[in-house]
Amino acid sequence: MAYRSTNPYTNKVEKSFEELSDEQLQAKLQGAQDCFDNVWRGQSFAQRKLVLKRAAALMRERQQDLARLATLEMGKLIGQSAGEVALSAAIIDYYADHAEAFLLPESLKTDKGQAVVESSPLGVLFGVEPWNYPYYQVARFAAPNLMAGNVVMVKHASNVPQCALAFEQLMHDAGLPVGGYTNLFVSKDQVAALIDDKRVRGVALTGSEAAGAVVAARAGQNLKKSTLELGGSDAFIVLEDADMARAVKQAVSGRMGNAGQACTASKRFIVVDAVADAFLEQFKAALDHFKPGDPMDERSTLAPLSSAEALDKLLQQVQTAVQHGARLVLGGQRAAGLPGNFMQPTILADITEDNPMFSEEFFGPVALFFRVRDEAAAVALANNSPYGLGGSVFTQDVERGRRVARRIDTGMVFVNSAALSLPDLPFGGVKNSGYGRELSAAGIQEFVNKKLIRVA
Ligand code: NAP
Repeated sequence: MAYRSTNPYTNKVEKSFEELSDEQLQAKLQGAQDCFDNVWRGQSFAQRKLVLKRAAALMRERQQDLARLATLEMGKLIGQSAGEVALSAAIIDYYADHAEAFLLPESLKTDKGQAVVESSPLGVLFGVEPWNYPYYQVARFAAPNLMAGNVVMVKHASNVPQCALAFEQLMHDAGLPVGGYTNLFVSKDQVAALIDDKRVRGVALTGSEAAGAVVAARAGQNLKKSTLELGGSDAFIVLEDADMARAVKQAVSGRMGNAGQACTASKRFIVVDAVADAFLEQFKAALDHFKPGDPMDERSTLAPLSSAEALDKLLQQVQTAVQHGARLVLGGQRAAGLPGNFMQPTILADITEDNPMFSEEFFGPVALFFRVRDEAAAVALANNSPYGLGGSVFTQDVERGRRVARRIDTGMVFVNSAALSLPDLPFGGVKNSGYGRELSAAGIQEFVNKKLIRVA
């Protein structure tokens, strides 16, 4: 695992970083434990709030610099990077403002004695995070857990080391004591050793199923709690009574945001027969308008994928799908004439269940289009996936939308919009998309000890 910034627009290596030695890692781990024992767990909510409010304010002050780093390292459009920074600051503010209320002691009604359940912190937590939203992913892990009184250590993805360091610096500058937030440039063996270490009390991973399985298995061997936020292949259902203009607009943003590299991106477009042709025609026309260009330039509308490997994988998936009978409606190639890892906006249709790509996640601007008979067939197809993260349903009958939403086996369903993430909405999935929740009141409950204290 070499920690390296490689600009996805030029594929030029900008900076490399050394991994920690085992001795350095041990020292950082002990520093985190000391911070927990001697400082952070003993702080009041008001004291912790002060630090996190400063962190959120600093993040807003540094918005442009942080955004440029994200664009430099993982290639997202500069406007979207700035939006991510703003959302991350909002998440930090949200937990600073609400953590105390979320974790209020709960008095129990009991026949004898007095009983109360208090939420106490667990200690040192370890987060393994992905590159696709390099600040948001870390904010939604760090902010609730710091407010709960835990301390956090983060192994960020190896292609966003400067974002990782910038976030650590932000926490430091906000006044978090040393050891409260620790960035780690570590190898996979060191990840395993950290999970084995008795000072680490819980593990959170956001990333692929493969990484989730490895990390959760290790946590399980050590009888430690884990949460997993993994991949998705969200269905985007359009019923015959949908507002078509709205559905198409949301389909475009749902598939193309972050150049399609989002776990909750709309990936499978399931449209009932009566409106399928109209939807496909308008969707295709809209996707055809995207213009690849330097992601630092605000006029560009299509960003490069995060790495050359990511582009190769996506091209391979498209090719395999076509070899097994899928039909290319749009795109399918790398975008020519530019140095970076650009994929054309692509639509694939006629993907049958025996196509090996039927159940795969396409992490980039590739939409899978399915035509179905009716609502029941749409729900059945939406649920015919190993994933269970999010999904959308479009209908002008909101009650119908709710009914359909209840039948979709995912952690989140959005009626008449593509998926979105806000500080106060719980985020997470079922099936191979993982377990546990981040954000909202739910996100702060994952790594606290719900301790009963009963007085006779
Ligand atoms: P990935 O390879 O799993 O990487 C995610 C993190 O896990 C990185 O820090 C990576 O480190 C680390 N990692 C990978 N293999 C590991 C192992 N064997 N042991 C320890 N750590 C390991 O994920 P990705 O492919 O870059 O990211 C895209 C995936 O994440 C997609 O499937 C996407 O849907 C999912 N995702 C899910 C959510 C959600 O909230 N549900 C959000 C965003 C993304 P290195 O970088 O050093 O390899």
